Amino acid sequence: MRAVLQPAWIIDGTGSPALTDHAVSLVDGRIDAVIPIQQLDAREDDRVIDLPGTTLIPGLINNHVHLVLPGDNTPFVPWIDTQSDAALALRAVHNAETSLQSGVTTVRDCGGRGSTVIDLREAQTNGIANGARVISCGWPLTITGGHTRHFGGEVDGEDALRTMVRKVVGLGADYVKVMAAGGGTPGSLPQYPSFTAAELRVIVETAHDLGRMVAAHCIATASIENAIQAGVDLIEHASFFGPDLIPQFDARVAEKLARASIPVTPTLQVNRDLVDLLPEGPERALWERRQQAQREIVSALRDLGVPLLAGSDAGWRATAFDTFWKELDELVECGFSAVAAIHAATGAVSRALRSDERYGTIRPGQIADLVAVEGQVEASIKYLREVRGVIQAGNIVSSDFLAG
Ligand SMILES: [Zn+2]
Repeated sequence: MRAVLQPAWIIDGTGSPALTDHAVSLVDGRIDAVIPIQQLDAREDDRVIDLPGTTLIPGLINNHVHLVLPGDNTPFVPWIDTQSDAALALRAVHNAETSLQSGVTTVRDCGGRGSTVIDLREAQTNGIANGARVISCGWPLTITGGHTRHFGGEVDGEDALRTMVRKVVGLGADYVKVMAAGGGTPGSLPQYPSFTAAELRVIVETAHDLGRMVAAHCIATASIENAIQAGVDLIEHASFFGPDLIPQFDARVAEKLARASIPVTPTLQVNRDLVDLLPEGPERALWERRQQAQREIVSALRDLGVPLLAGSDAGWRATAFDTFWKELDELVECGFSAVAAIHAATGAVSRALRSDERYGTIRPGQIADLVAVEGQVEASIKYLREVRGVIQAGNIVSSDFLAG
C-alpha cells in the first residue's frame, strides 16, 4: 500500500528552497516519489495523509550527542564513576527515544563508556530497542589524563594507538573518535592539543585501513592544525581556544581548514544552554563571551566555505535531547537561512557520513525518515519547536495529524 503525504511545504534537505503543491509518497518504508499535486494519480487503496499548514522535512540527524549522559548540568565527574554500564545503557535507550520523539531520527554518538552505545545500536538492529538510529564510535581515544578518560579510552604511543583503534573497530565502532585536545573533564586542558599530529596520523591510517572514518574533537587552535595535518575526516567543535580559554579566530588556520574542506560540527548549543541556565554571575559571563566569540568564528568559517554540520553535544553539560531546534537556531544566528540550517542537519550530514544513498533527504529511494512541522519553516527555523509528526523508516512514531 502507498501512503501519500500532502504538506503545505516540503524542504527536501538538499539545500534547495521549499517546494509547494507537491506530495510525497511512501512504499515499504522508503520514499517512492515527490509528485506535483496536479500529477498525483490517486489510487483507491492510497492512504492519504493531509498535512495542511505544515512543512515536511527529512528526519533530523543530530551529528554530535553522548547518549549515556544526562544533559541536565550534572557534573561529568564524579557522576560517571557512580554509574554501572547497565545504568548507562538504559539511559542511552531513553535518550535515543526522546531524540526520536522530537524529530531526530538519527544520532551520531560521539562517545560513551565501553561498549554501551554499540550495544544499544545492536539492540536496535535486533528489534529490541527503539529510538533515533545510532551511529557509534564506541568510546573516544584520549591521552592519559585526557578528556573523557572515564569512558575507558586512555592510550599513548603509536603501537598502543594502533591496538586500540583495532579493538574499538573490532567491537563494532562505526567510526573512530579521538580527543585531539582536552575538554571539560577536570584535569584535562582544552587550550592545548593532546595527541601529536604524528599520533593522530597513526590513528587515521589504522582506521582508514579498516574502512572507518576518524572524527577529532578539537578545542585548542593547535589541535585543529594537528587534525588537518593528520587527515582526519571530521572535526568536532573547532572552538579555536587560545591559552586564555576563550575562542579566538585564527584566519591562517581557518583558511587551512577551508582548503582541507573537512566538515566541522561546531556544537553551538552547549554555550546557549548554559547561558540560559546559569544565574547572573562570572560563570555565566564566561559562557556569554564564549557564545559570542564562537558565533563569530562559525560565521567566518561559513564565509570561507567550510562545510558546517548541526550537532548539539546533547548529554554533555546542560544540553537536552529534545531541543535540537536550538542548534539550528544558533546556525541561523551565524548567518544560515532556515533552509541551509535544515540542510546542515540532514543532507549535509548524511553526505559527510557517506550515508547519503540511504537517508538524509526527501528523494525517491531514501529510507522514509520524515518530520511534519507546524508552520512555514522556510520563514522561521523556530517553527521546529512545533513537531507534529515523526516517521522513521516508514513507521509512524508519533503524530497529532493521524488522530481521528
Ligand atoms: Zn561531545
